[in-house]
Amino acid sequence: MITVFGSINLDLVVVLPRLPAPGETVVGPDHQLFAGGKGANQALAAARAGARVRMVGAVGRDVHAAAALVNLERAGVDLSDVRHLDGTTGIAMIGVDEAGENLIMCASGVNARVSADWLEGRLARGDLLVLQRELSPEPIAEAVARARLCGTRVLLNAAPSGDAALARLVEGVDVIVANASEAAELALALGAGETPVADLHCAALSGPDRLAVVTLGARGLVAQMGGKRWHVAAPEVEVVDTTGAGDAFVGALAAALDRGADVERALAEGTAAGALACTATGAQSSSPDTASIAALAERITVTLVTAG
Ligand code: ADP
Repeated sequence: MITVFGSINLDLVVVLPRLPAPGETVVGPDHQLFAGGKGANQALAAARAGARVRMVGAVGRDVHAAAALVNLERAGVDLSDVRHLDGTTGIAMIGVDEAGENLIMCASGVNARVSADWLEGRLARGDLLVLQRELSPEPIAEAVARARLCGTRVLLNAAPSGDAALARLVEGVDVIVANASEAAELALALGAGETPVADLHCAALSGPDRLAVVTLGARGLVAQMGGKRWHVAAPEVEVVDTTGAGDAFVGALAAALDRGADVERALAEGTAAGALACTATGAQSSSPDTASIAALAERITVTLVTAG
């Protein structure tokens, strides 16, 4: 069983001829609404990849709550631990210009009041707890501590930023997933020194029993645990929109690890899901299913290299 403890948002997207400067109004045609939040995206991705998933988080008592949860509900994610609090659902207001450049304003809403106490009685030995960095650092740290006490494995995704507060948690988790810039930030905060080399960031984040995965976009990933290092090249796909690639990767990786797949298979399935998510628009709407992940994973080579 996977428990995702994280953010639930609604994204409001407006396509604009250009992004506004401070004080300026720029008008676009229509807006679109997308369910989002990294916690929700990853819960959905893990469920679509075949895992049993419980979401622990919060929405407000407002008009946005139902739309933020609809995809999770449809995918069969257990929402009984999503609390409906007085206040507003988290939202992201996103402007996108014709070149694809964006400007994002977020309001955390009730995500800022999510408490690790809600995990009480929800974590079991052998389960997997999946965390990201969209909640405040305190509940994330407390969730890691609770999981340790319960014998629950922890996968921590550094997105959207690998700050020092997060670096302090790396030691206590079983799997850390970071993209290239998050990994560089975390490695620096852990005293690894400044280097542009992703393999070195990955080495700094890994441990004898801790799997570190640094995702490298179209270049794939590097991963390390103990003396083993793996390189995986991303498959070539027709890229439509890379939004949600990281969340699809984390969800599928978590689903594979939760069902007991070995590290190499889990990396292949994560890579397949990340690539497939790039072939459709949106974050949740592009989340691939078990069959397409499995089929593409067969064609992905995971190369074991010696850790230097
Ligand atoms: P994030 O979205 O968190 O920044 P990445 O861009 O590193 O994360 O993407 C996560 C994973 O998704 C990559 O490791 C890769 O497997 C897959 N991916 C991302 N971009 C592409 C792409 N252009 N082509 C194929 N796979 C991709």
